[in-house]
Amino acid sequence: MRIQLLPSTFDGQGHATPEQRLTCFLIDECVAVDAGSIAIALTAEQRTKVRDVIVTHPHMDHIASLPIFIDDLYPTLKEPMRIHATPEVIALLERDVFNWNVYPRFSDLKNDYGPVMEYVPIPTNKTFSVAHLSVKAVPVNHIVPTVGLLVSDGKSSVAFSSDTAETDEFWDIVNENKHLDALFIEASFPDELAQLAEVSRHFTPSSLDKELKKLTHNGMDILAVHLKPTHREIIIKQLEALKIPKLSVMNPGEVYSW
Ligand SMILES: [Zn+2]
Ligand SMILES: [Zn+2]
Repeated sequence: MRIQLLPSTFDGQGHATPEQRLTCFLIDECVAVDAGSIAIALTAEQRTKVRDVIVTHPHMDHIASLPIFIDDLYPTLKEPMRIHATPEVIALLERDVFNWNVYPRFSDLKNDYGPVMEYVPIPTNKTFSVAHLSVKAVPVNHIVPTVGLLVSDGKSSVAFSSDTAETDEFWDIVNENKHLDALFIEASFPDELAQLAEVSRHFTPSSLDKELKKLTHNGMDILAVHLKPTHREIIIKQLEALKIPKLSVMNPGEVYSW
């Protein structure tokens, strides 16, 4: 499986910078997990391939450019953009984003080839397919309905925590899986902002350290994501101080393979 965290910030020469403001992971060039930077960072070729987007929750940093992405592709889509999300998240996207006020209700619209956007409701705690991947979604502990994901292509398996504070169900599902190659885990705030992390339901390096003790798999790559750009340097120092084997901060733009 090949996974890239799409960059959302670029320097004057168009190169990705390390800060991560928006969340969008691209899997095997065709499935996106969240869509924060989807319209900003995909190449023209990638735009022709991504037709499945799994939305973990409707926060802006995870969906910011999704409406623009569908708008850009509107006349050329020969199949609908499939938005895979729990019924709760679909209801929030319809109420708050694709509501004719913020942006058009694309799920009601057709181009010359047919519908341009389709919601695919996903279950929790049950395996379902998205393109060539099998996926399990599990509710995590965030301020809105949010799911973490376990994703497998039959050879390798990876887990995405999405945005969360301390949780048990996610670790149960991850631990039940025979093997894990990589874990993408959020580390939003530095330890100094533990209180803010708690009210907004995010991790700090210290709370993440405690949480990782619930994981029974060993030896997988652990990639920290969702570091708030303003506090990035200090979060990185605090993560390094934990001395957790194979823990590193995921680099936007880089392709990781398992
Ligand atoms: Zn969030
Ligand atoms: Zn977020």
